[in-house]
Formats: sequence, structure tokens, C-alpha cells
Amino acid sequence: MAVDDYYKTLGVSRGATQEEIKKAYRKLARELHPDRNPTEKASEERLKSVNEAYDIIGDPDKRAKYDRYGTADFEGINMDGFGSIFDQIFRGFGFGGGMGSQRSSRGPPQGESLRLTIPLTFKEAFFGVDKEIAITRKVKCETCAGSGAASGTAPVRCNTCGGRGQVMQTMGGFMRVSQTCPACQGMGQRIETPCTKCKGSGLENSRVTLDFPIPPGVEDGMSQRIRGGGNAGPRGGPSGDLLVVFNVDQDEVFIRRGLHVFLDTDIPFTTAVLGGDIEVQTMWGTSKLKIKKGTRGGTVLRMKEKGVHANNGRKGDQMVRVEINIPSKLTKEQKDALEKLEQEGL
Ligand SMILES: [Zn+2]
Ligand SMILES: [Zn+2]
Repeated sequence: MAVDDYYKTLGVSRGATQEEIKKAYRKLARELHPDRNPTEKASEERLKSVNEAYDIIGDPDKRAKYDRYGTADFEGINMDGFGSIFDQIFRGFGFGGGMGSQRSSRGPPQGESLRLTIPLTFKEAFFGVDKEIAITRKVKCETCAGSGAASGTAPVRCNTCGGRGQVMQTMGGFMRVSQTCPACQGMGQRIETPCTKCKGSGLENSRVTLDFPIPPGVEDGMSQRIRGGGNAGPRGGPSGDLLVVFNVDQDEVFIRRGLHVFLDTDIPFTTAVLGGDIEVQTMWGTSKLKIKKGTRGGTVLRMKEKGVHANNGRKGDQMVRVEINIPSKLTKEQKDALEKLEQEGL
């Protein structure tokens, strides 16, 4: 949904005060009330969109985001975009299609895509974290509403290409190829009097703070593409994408693979032989782990659900690799006792 739509729905201008928005909403809500229009399906539908619009631009915080981000989907970016991380986050940059795949050869080009790296500590990636990230992106120039033309004027159709943005050229005497129009650089239009604010580009820089509720389980190198989150296109062209890449620190003790956590731990050789409980560090605090008698070095023991608890309900485990601690220093008594065991054939 375009940015102006909520304003249009309420019949107010983009510059309207909160008070004006509230007034407009109340008036419409009264007019469209089911008591007044008991049989009209259309007013019911309209009331729904009026409520939706007021829900966003009636709230100064939501409105600010809506204005700055240039889309009605920012709620989706905040919540749903990361809701099921393991379904939606792509590994690396190997996904097909290409950033500009939706660009048509006609009309103003798509804006550039932006890339944003979010550094996370091991703990933040494990438990999830809310991050506020500031980026500078190009948005539609407010003065000319993105057209690039000075107020009171409008862009005119390019004569060279007739507004198509492309011209045909004959190459080698027989091959006809389509080329970007050199007169308008593919825009299909020409600006006679450029907007003084943006000098005809239709764009201005905007510093945006985005809320990223990052779910538990993000891995280093994972990325998420937010469609339309990049720079706005010049002269009203579609926005590029925002690619968010996560950079996760390593931990000195724990290693993560997916939802699971791996850890090496030493146990006394007597515990390995006789069995017993040991205390093991987990991301959730210290926890008891039962060692069976006769446990060999290198054995991997599973601590259920001590790994990442993902938002989709899946829970990882902690894998503990047991190393047996062989003492290098013994007291006289310990040495005597072990020698006695050795003579007994153990
Ligand atoms: Zn042209
Ligand atoms: Zn402008």
C-alpha cells in the first residue's frame, strides 16, 4: 500500500495534525456507523479501512514509522518477517531472482538495494533480542512528492522515446536492439522545471530507526531480505530491498550448530569409572548431568532442551562431549590405592 493511502482513506493531508486526523476519523466513523447504514455492505467495508487507517496514523509513533518507512508493512517487518526465522531467513546470498528482478524496462527505475549488517553477541543470537537500528535511506522528496518537478509543474513525456524509456537501434545493418533511451535515461519523462529541494531526483535522504525484534536462533551469516526496504526509486520508481545480514560472535565455551549447543567437559576418572552426577554449564544456567558408570572418554551426552528455544516451538539440545581427566599429581595414599587396584588386575 502506498504511503498516501491511509491519509486518503481518512480524507486528510499528509501534513494534518493528530487533532485533525482524530476529527476526520470521528466524522467518518459516525457517517459509516452500521446503525445509520444497516443494509449497506459498502459502508461496512469502508468503515473497516477507516479503522485500519486510524489505527496507524492516529497513533503518532506508528504514523512516524509509516511516513518514514514508506509502507504499510512495517508491522510485518517488525513481527511477522522474523516470526518463523527458520522458514524465512535465507543462508548467505544464494537466493535467486536478483535484486532488480521486478524492474520493468518502462518507467522510472527501481531504487538501490541496501545492505545492513547487524552484529550480535552469542547470547543475543541464542535468546533473541530487540535491536534498534538506524539507517539512512532515500525516500520520496516531500516537496515534490517524488516527481522531481517543481510545485505547480509536472514531468512531461520524453519526445525521444515517446515515454517508453527504450529506443530501438539498428546494429550491424540488420539487428534491431532495444536500448535505454539516452535522452531520459529510461525514465520515459523529462522534467522542465526541477524541484529545488531534490534538484529533480525526486529523492531525499531520511534517517530511519527500525525496530528489529530478533528471534532466538539466528546464526552467523544468516540474512533476511525486506522487500521495498531499500532506497526509493528516482521519480516515483519502486523501492529497492533492504538486506539484513547477521554477524554473530563466537563464544569461548559454547559452540552452536542450528538449535543445538556443543560443549566439552572434563570429568574425574573416578566418576567415569564409578558413575555419578556432575554440574555442567548451560546457556540456561548450571545443570546436573548423570554420568553412567564405565563412561568412556569422547562419549557425547545429550542434555535435552538446553539449546535454543525457537519461536516456532522447536527446542535444541546441548551435547556434552566428556573428556576424562587423568590426574598428573597423586598423593602417597592415592598412589598406594591405585597400585593396589593395579595388582588386583583392574
Ligand atoms: Zn526517453
Ligand atoms: Zn523534490
